[in-house]
Amino acid sequence: MSGTDTGATVWLTGLPSAGKTTIAFALADRLRADGHQVEVLDGDEIREFLSAGLGFTREDRHTNVQRIGFVAELLASNGVKVLVPVIAPYADSREAVRGRHQKQGTAYLEVHVATPVEVCSERDVKGLYAKQAAGEITGLTGVDDPYEAPMAPDLRIETQGRTVEDSAVALRALLVERGLAA
Ligand code: ADP
Repeated sequence: MSGTDTGATVWLTGLPSAGKTTIAFALADRLRADGHQVEVLDGDEIREFLSAGLGFTREDRHTNVQRIGFVAELLASNGVKVLVPVIAPYADSREAVRGRHQKQGTAYLEVHVATPVEVCSERDVKGLYAKQAAGEITGLTGVDDPYEAPMAPDLRIETQGRTVEDSAVALRALLVERGLAA
């Protein structure tokens, strides 16, 4: 696809280990195979560079999400499909990002990767749930820190009992439905 491709930000919000990153990379593969330009803004990488020095207070989490939203919009407004697998626990932070996209006329989709906390804590990809349970860390989203689930996401993905491919296909179908992918 050419440089005139329609950009969009697809924000995957959900608890740690919900499957956000896994689904984002599966979707990225598909979109690239279709000829789209794609970037995945990985939360850990962002915290190492763009948001170095920020912690996990409400204010810092908000700032982190606004920075990512700013970069996502810049890329999306230049024809890139930007996939953002980042927790973004606060509804007002997410709404601010959506608002910035709307103001710029840039497509924005919110996807709730809605895996129950019990399933996430069993997966525990980064060992965070175990560390929280052992008292080694505090402020884990969904356990002892808030997660405000989206009330009206563009798509809600249940991952338990479904394959990663299923979820990527559902997400790609949403992009097609919204005229953002062929
Ligand atoms: P997050 O980015 O939300 O913290 P990850 O994608 O890093 O979560 O980890 C999710 C884990 O759950 C991975 O090990 C993945 O293989 C597993 N998993 C099992 N089923 C699914 C599914 N249907 N969709 C996404 N991930 C799944």
